[in-house]
Amino acid sequence: MRSWEKTQSCMLCGEPDETQDHLHFACPYSFTGWLRVGGGLLADEASPDWMDTLNFLHLGGRNLMDQILLCMMFQTTVYYLWQERNTRRHEGPWIPHEQTSRLIIKSVKNRIFSLGYRFPHKLTCLLRKWIEVT
Ligand SMILES: [Zn+2]
Repeated sequence: MRSWEKTQSCMLCGEPDETQDHLHFACPYSFTGWLRVGGGLLADEASPDWMDTLNFLHLGGRNLMDQILLCMMFQTTVYYLWQERNTRRHEGPWIPHEQTSRLIIKSVKNRIFSLGYRFPHKLTCLLRKWIEVT
């Protein structure tokens, strides 16, 4: 739309100029959801800025399980925010950010279940860690 010199308002909060940076995560709806889902993993590092978030995700120095969970959480959050945005854009039912957050948490949990790690695999504790941080 921007390339056609048209702006759209954010379907999640009403901001007059919807951009990718706004949706992820400057929008109050999305940032609240991001914090709600990832607060246990993000600690004080949560930022509403897209590039800061990407840089944070690419930082090294954290353990493998935290890195995997952060990436899964990020991918799932972006997906569900985009889905909610499109549902609203096409006049579907709106869901509050609390419900979107629960969907994200459940979706990541189901994804971990589907991996089927069994002891002694090094990622056996992934689900336990996810439950601890959400
Ligand atoms: Zn917004």
